[in-house]
Amino acid sequence: MINVVIFGAPGSGKGTQSNFMKEHYKLVHISTGDVLRDHIARKTELGEVAKSFIDKGQLIPDELMISILGDVIDSHKDKAQNGFIFDGFPRTIAQAQALEGLLADRDMKLNCVVGLDVPDEVLIERLVNRGKESGRSDDNLETIKDRIAVYYKVTSPLKDYYCERNLFHSVKGWGDIDKITASVWAVIDNSL
Ligand code: AMP
Repeated sequence: MINVVIFGAPGSGKGTQSNFMKEHYKLVHISTGDVLRDHIARKTELGEVAKSFIDKGQLIPDELMISILGDVIDSHKDKAQNGFIFDGFPRTIAQAQALEGLLADRDMKLNCVVGLDVPDEVLIERLVNRGKESGRSDDNLETIKDRIAVYYKVTSPLKDYYCERNLFHSVKGWGDIDKITASVWAVIDNSL
């Protein structure tokens, strides 16, 4: 079983690389952003709460996010013999600690954390361009800047957290896309 966290700032390419990885390694891809957007589209109670945070570029509170993730893992268990890609989770130290527990409770563990390293100007350019097509309420310049600030303040400290556990591997996340994919896969292959 392979369990991977794909890590990086908004616009770093986590979704794109997850799509390649899930085909190549036959993994189940869990994007917490997608899970929340699905709730918003279905107008659930959770969707309403999530929207109020997402539209401001803020994070959904840890306790809520952690319980959602546990439910999502369980709902995919049957299809996940080869393992999971966690995309957009964890985003805080509390979430990282919770993930360890959620996996241990299910006799699983993390193989590696792949961090996509991308300069801010490239992130902003990608997200502004994506916003023209995605229609995502948070892909506008003001919210993009807020999301990147939240990333540096709350999420990027996770690099140290995972370095201390010998799980973190940084990959250059811009330039030739095939090279990025090859670097991500090399990290995963080395973690098996
Ligand atoms: P993403 O699609 O990963 O860029 O996530 C979009 C938005 O969903 C984020 O800006 C947060 O508001 C929210 N979100 C997604 N994942 C998490 C998480 N693990 N913790 C808190 N908020 C999250």
